[in-house]
Amino acid sequence: MGAGAVGLFGARSARAAQAAAPGAGAGAGIGPGPYAVEGMAAYSATQPLRLLKFERRALGPKDVAIQLHYCGICHSDIHHGREHWRQEPFPLVPGHELAGVVVAVGSSASRFKVGDRVGVGCMVNSCRHCSMCNVGLEQYCENGATFTYGSKDRDGTLTQGGYSTLNVVDEDFVIRVPDAIDLADAGPLMCAGITVYSPLRRWSVGPGKRVGVVGLGGLGHMAVKIAKAMGAEVTVLTTSPDKVADALRFGARDVIVNPDSADLSRHKRSLDFILDTAPYKHKLDRLFTLLKQDATFCMVGAGKVSEPYEIGPFSLLAARNSYASSQIGGIRETQELVDFCALHGIRPETSRIAMNEISAAWDRVVDKKARYRYVVDMKA
Ligand SMILES: [Zn+2]
Ligand SMILES: [Zn+2]
Repeated sequence: MGAGAVGLFGARSARAAQAAAPGAGAGAGIGPGPYAVEGMAAYSATQPLRLLKFERRALGPKDVAIQLHYCGICHSDIHHGREHWRQEPFPLVPGHELAGVVVAVGSSASRFKVGDRVGVGCMVNSCRHCSMCNVGLEQYCENGATFTYGSKDRDGTLTQGGYSTLNVVDEDFVIRVPDAIDLADAGPLMCAGITVYSPLRRWSVGPGKRVGVVGLGGLGHMAVKIAKAMGAEVTVLTTSPDKVADALRFGARDVIVNPDSADLSRHKRSLDFILDTAPYKHKLDRLFTLLKQDATFCMVGAGKVSEPYEIGPFSLLAARNSYASSQIGGIRETQELVDFCALHGIRPETSRIAMNEISAAWDRVVDKKARYRYVVDMKA
């Protein structure tokens, strides 16, 4: 904490942004930018995050400027910041679970107005004309979606993420946050929520279905709550014995501790679908024995590329099972998920931290100590 963080990341940033564009805008909004912004950046794969002052672009016609209030910490941020997946363009401001308030809108932006509560997830742009974009699957854009950080935007600039005070985003990639959802709870829906919701929907999870959720972290705990709200019966598989009570509280019917070594015979061929959210290498073949005939196992928790998973030659053919994967969800589907959570009273379990506590929080996420999502409070 410390007084420095309050000054650096609190209201002063909004005033600085205002000062950058005096006299423009109307009502409670601020000017059209460009905007002076402060964020927390990774400068290498091994050092703690440090302050980065940078500029967000001036509003394009369809852009909205969003004063960020909160940003969730996703394990993917750590994989990027520590170069587990690829070489990164440092300095890199991670964060793709953004929640905030619209403070300025472009000349032809029509979906949002100043004061609206909004979120942004893992994508901020895509080509808009390929077959995937045309059906609302922008995350699979054939020309490459523009991700919220570390990605080249359509104008050639590099995107920087949500561990920052303000962002400028095309309104087509902005999600509306219903009144029923606290802004502090909105961020984790934008990645963790949609990443589990999309495959649960695709594989028709609902009443009468039995679903396994592997890993009870940021994604897994949302998967339990969402699958339960969809009407399914949920079995959690976790390496953390101290999470059993929580799993049951979130709606699980059954919990299997240490699936790598536990006796799974009681559960053999019992599940209609398994969603694997664990973001590190683990044994898969044993888990496949839990799948019913023809059922699907879907991986959404990507581990390090240097540690590929192993699948035995006979482990899927025994019951004609499928191994699948899934990446976040499209913009329309993300809005659907947020509205679903509002309707069913589903909220992430969060711990709020200040900007200067992010590096320590990353360590706790890696150590499986998070309960269950850290959310950076820009005003803390
Ligand atoms: Zn994420
Ligand atoms: Zn496209």
